[in-house]
Amino acid sequence: MNVIFMGPPGAGKGTQAEKIVSEFQIPHISTGDAFRAAMSQGTPMGIEAKGYVDKGLLVPDEITNGIVRERLAQPDCDKGFLLDGFPRTVAQADALSEIVDSLGKKIEVVINLAVDRSYLLARLTGRRICKSCGSTYHVIFNPPQQEGVCDKCSGELYQRSDDTEEKVGTRLDEYINKTAPLLDYYQKRELLREVNGEQDIHAVTEQISSLLRGLA
Ligand code: ADP
Ligand code: AMP
Repeated sequence: MNVIFMGPPGAGKGTQAEKIVSEFQIPHISTGDAFRAAMSQGTPMGIEAKGYVDKGLLVPDEITNGIVRERLAQPDCDKGFLLDGFPRTVAQADALSEIVDSLGKKIEVVINLAVDRSYLLARLTGRRICKSCGSTYHVIFNPPQQEGVCDKCSGELYQRSDDTEEKVGTRLDEYINKTAPLLDYYQKRELLREVNGEQDIHAVTEQISSLLRGLA
């Protein structure tokens, strides 16, 4: 099962990806996670990416495409993969199509988590992430049992530096200008399926998982 999750920042892609990869036993490939890991390790790519991520801007396509090209060639992707946060531009979608072709694979479905912009600020500013295992929480909508502590691994929760009101505005503008056109791109290729991401977390998971079971 080769799947793409699309949707604006805060739509719930990462939250749903955690659940779906565990059910379908496929790797979760998040370009945002890859950039944060490279930034915290201080690699040359991480240092370059930081200049964009910290401003809420998209990282240039050549850097981002290179990460995905390398990752999809790994043997664990042979049983399928879930792309979260990639592609985000038409040039990235074209590159992805070329990458999967060259690997003899194909994208089977693009799931758009549809959430109105009015929900996103509260979701993003209340997001907390585990420093150790990367699990995602929300201070109101999905709180951990003990404040600031991960339920799964007891790791410390932190707030992303780009989850501030100021950066969220830029990130949503980037989404509208550069990423939203991909909905039409995948609609034309008959790959797009829409899920209402405004429902509670469990209901969204149920809908995605039954959609994917229908395709398996
Ligand atoms: P994305 O990966 O699309 O940017 P996340 O999965 O990180 O979004 O979700 C953003 C925030 O919203 C997180 O704090 C998460 O706990 C919360 N969240 C995710 N899905 C829902 C939902 N269906 N209802 C309410 N809050 C949600
Ligand atoms: P995310 O974790 O998906 O919210 O991504 C966090 C940040 O990483 C984004 O605001 C961008 O700066 C960068 N990023 C992640 N994925 C991409 C991508 N496909 N193209 C360009 N930049 C990206």
